[in-house]
Amino acid sequence: MDVLNWISSRRTPQSEKADPRQVANSAGGYTFELDDHARLRRFLTLGVDGGTYYVGDRALALDNAAVLTRLAVDDPEGLVATIVEISTQGRAPKQNPALFALAYAASIPEAAPAALAALPRVARTGTHLFLFAGYVEQFRGWGRGLRRAVADWYTTKDADAVAYQAVKYRQREGWSHRDLLRLAHPVTAVPALRETFEWILRGQVGAEVPAIVSGFAAAQEATDVATWTRLIRDHGLAWEMLPDAALNEAAVWDALLDSGMPQTALMRQLPRLTRLGVLPDLGGRTAEVVAQLTDADRLRKARVHPVNVLVAQRTYSSGRSARGAGEWTPTPAIADALDAAFYAAFGAVQPSGKRTMLGVDVSGSMGSPISGMPITAREASAALALVQLATEPSAAAYGFAAALGGWGRTQLKPLGISPRRRLDDALKVIDAMPFGGTDCALPMVYAAREGLEVDTFVVYTDNETWAGNVHPHQALRDYREQTGIPAKLVVVGMTSTGFSIADPNDAGMLDIAGFDAAVPNLITEFAGA
Ligand code: CA
Repeated sequence: MDVLNWISSRRTPQSEKADPRQVANSAGGYTFELDDHARLRRFLTLGVDGGTYYVGDRALALDNAAVLTRLAVDDPEGLVATIVEISTQGRAPKQNPALFALAYAASIPEAAPAALAALPRVARTGTHLFLFAGYVEQFRGWGRGLRRAVADWYTTKDADAVAYQAVKYRQREGWSHRDLLRLAHPVTAVPALRETFEWILRGQVGAEVPAIVSGFAAAQEATDVATWTRLIRDHGLAWEMLPDAALNEAAVWDALLDSGMPQTALMRQLPRLTRLGVLPDLGGRTAEVVAQLTDADRLRKARVHPVNVLVAQRTYSSGRSARGAGEWTPTPAIADALDAAFYAAFGAVQPSGKRTMLGVDVSGSMGSPISGMPITAREASAALALVQLATEPSAAAYGFAAALGGWGRTQLKPLGISPRRRLDDALKVIDAMPFGGTDCALPMVYAAREGLEVDTFVVYTDNETWAGNVHPHQALRDYREQTGIPAKLVVVGMTSTGFSIADPNDAGMLDIAGFDAAVPNLITEFAGA
């Protein structure tokens, strides 16, 4: 054989570079590299908790901190704008990465002014502020700029808002409002606000201190249900403001529901409400809770992230807490409502109308939990694929892995799930699929071989591809040439690494971050353009 025939720039094994721009991924393959802005989006939505299948969480955190350092110097305004955008639009399931990124930016001189000015928009609750304070101390001292930013957080609110934050979010991570007021020394000419600060600092309840403070104090001393329910009604107390004894009373939760529980709090308390008998199969508060859970308007206003709904749906349906504390018998109507809420939480998604092939990487590395949440990358991918199936009239979903035994020669098979199947059931199907090596070219190779007409390939993966004898971007080019269809490829990245199978120079390929709540809309926009 002529060894010169062996060299090809058109079909390259994934274990070799197909392009000088490619870098080695963690699995022994070569992929393209994301730019820092795309990496920032992955970090903000996916976080680094738990690391990846290949890389520990500390190494992944350091890697992402390097991205933040570069952006803070090269494009500080862009860095802060993206943090604000992802945070305020509710596009990430957790606020920690945004608060961390903001704290980090606040420690780098080029970015500090913009970062500190954005503090009230990103730290919207007392808990957010405490998390920020903890992170920021890792990188800088309490200089004047930081003290003023924290003081402004308090002085730009009215006394009612500060008092509410102070009784609802009292401490976290070793921080309290008293600690922050002592450091920041906010000065105000508003008497009610000044007295509220005095109450937080020294416990003095002046005449102008908002009434919720006395309501909160009375609730701590009360021992009977009638007093608690009256205080909830009179002062609008939230569950966080009540003592543990009160939270074991069904009548207290009835009163909390009467006064209107926030969407996220309601979602988290469903197991407890069920255990206490507030949500029976028939009657009780079940019908109205179902209505609230599935209210698209309320989901949007409360910035409820679909991944958090997904986790709540699965936890609730399992009848036991992930932390092993407590069991309950799930009420089917509530489990179904959470299922509907998952889809509703994405907001109104327009279909692209394109022929769409969804390829979920179900290889071994996708079986690791992501973002420190009780969900694996393959499960989250399958749930995202379900949303596309519910949106696109012409779409089909496949699971792929470069498995050698059992799957025959295709190594790609229909996922066998549909939006009509409840999430917890659908995820069980995904979990039962055989694991294997990774070849992200398989969707394009398969479509070409089987003569499938595809306008948009969507591949959900950690981009740790290595097993194929052709790179994914080469397989896409072959598919386009063979069919004459100018097919596009959307890569939904499920880990916050810098790897992507998408060629950044090809306008027909796009990389998006997997936990971004805007994923379905981003796919539609790109596919339909
Ligand atoms: Ca893999």
